[in-house]
Amino acid sequence: MSLSEFALIKQYFSSVGGAEGVALGVGDDGAVLDISPDQQLVVSVDTLVAGVHFPQDAAPEDIARRTLRVNLSDMAAMGADARWFTLALTLPQAEADWLQAFSKAMAEDAQYFGCALVGGDTTAGPLSISIQMMGTVPRGQALVRGGAQAGDGVYVTGTLGEGAAALQVFSSGCSYNDSQREALLKRFNRPEPRLTVGRKLRGVASAAIDISDGLLADLGHIAECSGLGAELQLQQVPVAPWLTEAVNPDQLQSWVLSGGDDYELCFTVPESKQSLVDGMIHRGELLATRIGLMTSEPGIVCLDAEGQVQTVARKGYQHFN
Ligand code: ADP
Ligand code: MG
Repeated sequence: MSLSEFALIKQYFSSVGGAEGVALGVGDDGAVLDISPDQQLVVSVDTLVAGVHFPQDAAPEDIARRTLRVNLSDMAAMGADARWFTLALTLPQAEADWLQAFSKAMAEDAQYFGCALVGGDTTAGPLSISIQMMGTVPRGQALVRGGAQAGDGVYVTGTLGEGAAALQVFSSGCSYNDSQREALLKRFNRPEPRLTVGRKLRGVASAAIDISDGLLADLGHIAECSGLGAELQLQQVPVAPWLTEAVNPDQLQSWVLSGGDDYELCFTVPESKQSLVDGMIHRGELLATRIGLMTSEPGIVCLDAEGQVQTVARKGYQHFN
């Protein structure tokens, strides 16, 4: 039987090597390593494979920006400042035009987000790009998945569902108009890493994760790592109004709850900090919505507008499934 992605990591890679200097190892959006008395290094790596994470014929600019931003999103989820990255490129062939466009877009984004390319590796083979991102965080302030307590509020940034909806644009027969297509493609190719939000949440959020595999799966990771469950108010989950109008409700719900690729942050806030966070939201300093509550009962319970429990298939994206 083939192992799921998460079972595979747990079984074979959760405890390889010594732990000196490792404040947080396998299992979060990034590892947290002790490097100085006042700062910690946050490290993560993500690979994007042609035909799996982006279409085979995607433009080099789009591939560059998406790969960098997806990796920056993990820094945001850790509350880290992105600083440096290495780039492993596997290319079917070395085409000057492709490389020119790819490297220019990557340089522009790196400058914009304040991080620098410091090394990498280049090989021939099917198109695949890995970025190892390194950031820093003041000691003890990294946002982790396992810090939530029962009673903490659950929040999410931005709107959900567009990442999964964008995949439809690549398949034939989609019925979006031009501006909708453009909005979805922008969302897919240039997801917005929530680095500023992550920074603001240091010392405020009790747990955080970025939504790469779908809200239920990723909130599920916070719940499991914290030894808790959660109650989700389905009608509070933020969705772009135009998407609600364009798509049938069942399809939309599945994209919003179980689609991946949104790269928004899901975070929890203790009761003592909720008025602070709600004030930031109210004043427009934090683009986030409260969507539920952490509970001591394991599992994610979805409630409709009447408070009735809704059964929702919890299937986030997993490789090897
Ligand atoms: P994310 O979606 O935030 O990028 P993943 O779901 O890819 O995180 O990975 C979950 C956790 O498992 C992370 O802490 C990651 O570092 C770790 N991980 C994934 N693959 C491996 C591996 N082959 N060896 C060690 N750790 C791994
Ligand atoms: Mg992540």
